[in-house]
Amino acid sequence: MGKINVTAENIFPIIKKFLYSDHEIFLREMISNAVDASLKLQALSRMGEIKGELGKVDIEVSVDKKKKTLTISDRGVGMTADEVDKYINQVAFSGAEEFLQQYKDKAGDAGIIGHFGLGFYSGFMVADKVEIVSRSWKESDEKKAVHWSCQGDPEFEMKAGKRGERGTDIILHINKENEEFLEDFKIRELLKKYCRFLPIPIQFGTKEETIKKGEGDEAEEEKITVPDIINNALPAWTKNASELKDEDYANFYSELYPMSFDKPLFHIHLKVDFPFDLTGILYFPKIKPQMELQKNKIQLFQNQVFVTDSVEGIVPDFLTLLHGVIDSKDIPLNVSRSYLQADGNVKKISGHITKKVADKLDEMFRKDRKEFEANWEDTKVIVEYGMLTEDKFNEKAKKFYLLKDSEGNYHTLEEYKEVLGKQQEDKDGNNIWLYASDAEAQHEGIEQAKASGYKVLILNTPLSSHLIQRMEGDLEKVRFARVDSDSIDNLIKKDEAMPSKLSEEQEKQIKEWVESKMEKDKFQIKVDSLSSTSAPLQVIVPEFMRRMKEQSMTGGGMMGLTDLPESYEVLVNANHPLIDQVMAQGEKERDQTLQELIDLALLGQNLLHGAALSGFIARQRGRLETIA
Ligand code: ADP
Ligand code: MG
Repeated sequence: MGKINVTAENIFPIIKKFLYSDHEIFLREMISNAVDASLKLQALSRMGEIKGELGKVDIEVSVDKKKKTLTISDRGVGMTADEVDKYINQVAFSGAEEFLQQYKDKAGDAGIIGHFGLGFYSGFMVADKVEIVSRSWKESDEKKAVHWSCQGDPEFEMKAGKRGERGTDIILHINKENEEFLEDFKIRELLKKYCRFLPIPIQFGTKEETIKKGEGDEAEEEKITVPDIINNALPAWTKNASELKDEDYANFYSELYPMSFDKPLFHIHLKVDFPFDLTGILYFPKIKPQMELQKNKIQLFQNQVFVTDSVEGIVPDFLTLLHGVIDSKDIPLNVSRSYLQADGNVKKISGHITKKVADKLDEMFRKDRKEFEANWEDTKVIVEYGMLTEDKFNEKAKKFYLLKDSEGNYHTLEEYKEVLGKQQEDKDGNNIWLYASDAEAQHEGIEQAKASGYKVLILNTPLSSHLIQRMEGDLEKVRFARVDSDSIDNLIKKDEAMPSKLSEEQEKQIKEWVESKMEKDKFQIKVDSLSSTSAPLQVIVPEFMRRMKEQSMTGGGMMGLTDLPESYEVLVNANHPLIDQVMAQGEKERDQTLQELIDLALLGQNLLHGAALSGFIARQRGRLETIA
């Protein structure tokens, strides 16, 4: 029986080429190890294994441009020669795992990052030589430090070193291809990206600070140079919600998005420790219905180490519209996205976040409906998105999803059923929920519906037609119809069809007359026997095709309908007195009357443009002049 042997010889080329697609993450790995070493030290001190004061446990990063080195120094546990042999020389042996095993019961939650025992070797992606100078906390003699160095081939050298204090220096001799990692701004950028919220202070360079000396009038300002600390070691999400005020959440938002001037609407503080570990703060941003949706604002952390801000597949799609942070120890750090998305823990986390968000929204709705309504226009796209994509969310959201009517009142689905009663029930027992997607553009339709004693909803997001489809499935005997999708008589048919005042022959004739005056492939002419109070001639947008087209534009629905040409129906009301009149007119007069009726109908749908519009205006002006 053989044994697959992971040796440095065969793993070096793999690490260099494949393990990490991004070279820059070597710094995250080095700092993570330094943080781990510091956290271990603090944990041992808490357990009483290390006696006395620990002193400073900061991490310091420095660049020496002349020597072309990047050094990461920590004041953590350090390593003895034996430990270097064990943890460094044996590739893929993780001291972090071992530490957690050993102190499983006592260490509690030390927040250790390391896992796989591979991170250290990522240094060789950017360095052709790596040195370790380390002195374990157990060694009282400074000559007992260990000095290890390796040129990237499997040969390493280990000798006695010298180090005044406990801790470790990792010295990376940056190779030619990666000299960008000797630039201050680059290192600062990477530290800001990956290490912004690590739990141990990280110093890089210095900065000037102004301090006040003396009191009152005597006070003098003085500039002093202080270490520049990169990170906030105690970010808001690591604290308890009870310790934080609204202001703290707002400040943390600014810290996360310093370039953003928009304030979030509200936040959700997540805290779960069973069946998996998860903390985080999610912010609901203001989202205007027609706005370009912004994704990838959530930042994913593992034990305060930044992992990614591309959370698609990790949090449910609809929540990628939120802002904020999620931190979980159970999210693997060193792996590819596809692995991350397939990971069982990650899937469970996603389901749980969905539930938490739904519960929180529900709670807010119940606690303070006024406030909930005030935020609704900015929140609803996210809620709609969730309802459409997550069944479990839909179940909960049905109770707090709000419909706004044209008067500005909000109703839940249940409430709206009550409000309508039987008022909008048609002869077949269907309840027709009339809506407008744009209160301005469909103003005429809204007015007509109101004149008939009906209520109109405003459903104006890009997801509305999808959601309507969904709600028609969920709500019994409810059909949605846009106010301009038919004449009001037809939208809610109360009785059997009315008899037509025109003969079949006359209907055919008026149809031909109108047809001859309108674009053929854009307008379909229909003669209908409507009530005499309905418009004589009106342009409508039939519900079904329009809905299909909209859905196909925002994804889903039937594909390929986006390119469908615009098409409208023109309803001629056989029972309107004006149509009666047209029938009786001579050719010239009839032509004029029909032209006015058509132009007015087009105007009502904002479809009168160009020469047709100028012609219309000129005619009206001419008419006024003859009156004057
Ligand atoms: P992991 O962090 O996943 O355990 P690494 O390859 O990053 O794997 O590191 C291997 C081991 O080397 C660590 O677990 C730790 O025991 C040791 N080590 C690395 N860097 C340091 C350091 N700065 N201080 C103390 N020990 C370290
Ligand atoms: Mg590590």
